[in-house]
Amino acid sequence: MELDLKKLILFLALSATIVTFLNSFYSSYQVQKQQLQAETLKSQSAYAAKLVSATDRFLQSAQQQLAYSAKVIESNFDNTLIYSQEVTRLRLQTDSFNSTVIVLANGMVKGISPKSLKLEGKKLQSYGALQALSSKEPMISEPYISAANNLIIFISHPLFASDGRYLGYVGGSIYLKHASILNDLLQVHFHKDGSYLYVVDKNRRLLYHPNTSRIGEQVYNNEVIEAVLSGKHGTQQLVNSQNEAMLAGYAPLQTAPWGIITQRPLEATLEPLDGLMINVLHRTLPIGLATLLFIWLLARFIAHPLRDLAQTANALDNPSAPQQLKVIKSWYFESSELRKAMLKGVGVFQNQIGVLRQEAQTDPLTGLHNRRSLDGILEHLTSTQTSFAVLAIDIDFFKHVNDEYGHDIGDLVLQSLANIILDVTRTTDFVTRTGGEEFIVISPNATATTAYLLAERLRMRISETFIGPVGYINVSVGIAGWPLKQSSIDDILRLADQALYKAKRTGRNRSVLDSQYQDAEIKKPD
Ligand code: GH3
Ligand code: MG
Ligand code: MG
Repeated sequence: MELDLKKLILFLALSATIVTFLNSFYSSYQVQKQQLQAETLKSQSAYAAKLVSATDRFLQSAQQQLAYSAKVIESNFDNTLIYSQEVTRLRLQTDSFNSTVIVLANGMVKGISPKSLKLEGKKLQSYGALQALSSKEPMISEPYISAANNLIIFISHPLFASDGRYLGYVGGSIYLKHASILNDLLQVHFHKDGSYLYVVDKNRRLLYHPNTSRIGEQVYNNEVIEAVLSGKHGTQQLVNSQNEAMLAGYAPLQTAPWGIITQRPLEATLEPLDGLMINVLHRTLPIGLATLLFIWLLARFIAHPLRDLAQTANALDNPSAPQQLKVIKSWYFESSELRKAMLKGVGVFQNQIGVLRQEAQTDPLTGLHNRRSLDGILEHLTSTQTSFAVLAIDIDFFKHVNDEYGHDIGDLVLQSLANIILDVTRTTDFVTRTGGEEFIVISPNATATTAYLLAERLRMRISETFIGPVGYINVSVGIAGWPLKQSSIDDILRLADQALYKAKRTGRNRSVLDSQYQDAEIKKPD
């Protein structure tokens, strides 16, 4: 395949279009992706913040409930009925606690709800219970395994007598692995799109996780957990323990040293992307195809004048070249300048060719046709089957003229002779100076007779013409004709020469007809 301008323009434009298209497709993909990610991260962090504030509110209200109950118990500490009343009220009035308990300063359980736990009168040895006793202040425990073998967190409020004596505490536990207010609170936000959340305490222990079997598990080396436990809130892209890419938002609680992390799989986030990109494709494809079509047409349109100019440039010697150039529609600057230049060039060129052709075919001394021109005319006549006669003319004793008057005068004589020959012959005859003082006249459509008559007319006219300063000169003429049997052009010229030679030999100043030419005419039937 040969490259041409159209293909090059097309290639250039095509590659530019495709690259642009791919580039915009790719960047719109990237933009959409980033936007989806950014939106998801933002919503995850908003979720985390919202859950944190809900959880904080819940813990505060749980603490307030205990504080209020503590006041009631303190002021009725001697009323033995108050213990069971308060634990029952605390547990049933709100959903805050899975179980409630009142413990005396010696660790003895004074009241417990539900009663089914059967701990009344027993001493609690669990971590949370001991912690509550020793701290003597409102607290939220770390998760631990309770006496009833539940993983719980324990919220407690101390009891003091009016004289400041420590009496014990009232507390409520929240079961982490069972249905609880905390579960209810957090589960509401558990989404179907793969999002989930979990809560960690300061020991990196899971307080809440949608997979309940993981609750209580400690998770180390998790960037997000580390960040949230250091009190930061924000967003993060990460790979979770299941090796899934996740977009996470996180926030720390204020009421407890916990953090809430919400996260959504990256894959689910990017799911709409395929649809979005197909949409982009649908929108851009028609315009893209239309652009390509437009480019193709434009490429043709741009290349057309240059292609025409190039083709014409291949044949500038053709006489129709200027005409061809004129009809080329060169509609833009470069092509029109090229065309103008070519037109100008071709004019000069063809003039030059004309001059050269003329010069190549002209005898400079006499302005008659030369030998080359003679060959051309003979070829033309034989190829068009036009019969003709050849008159070979040679000046008699021309050497004497030169010897006596000099070469220049000899030349003048030759010029005069040329004029005489032109004068006597018809315009259809073809007069050449073939060399020196020899001339050949071709007379198309002549017969032997008319040719002989022409030769004689010439010879006599020359001999009668005074050519100063030389005077009178004579010529001898040999005549041959074509067609003659199978004779070639060279044969005919040779026969004419032979006839001329005969004229010289037999006395000069005469015309001699080639005998075969004469015979052919005599034999010709009328
Ligand atoms: P003949 O009758 O046998 O033809 O005798 P001739 O002297 O003419 O002999 P020939 O034809 O051989 O003569 C040729 C002479 O023509 C020789 C040369 O001096 C002369 N001649 C040839 N070409 C030119 C030319 O271009 N200019 C001039 N002035 N003389 C030429
Ligand atoms: Mg001669
Ligand atoms: Mg001569």
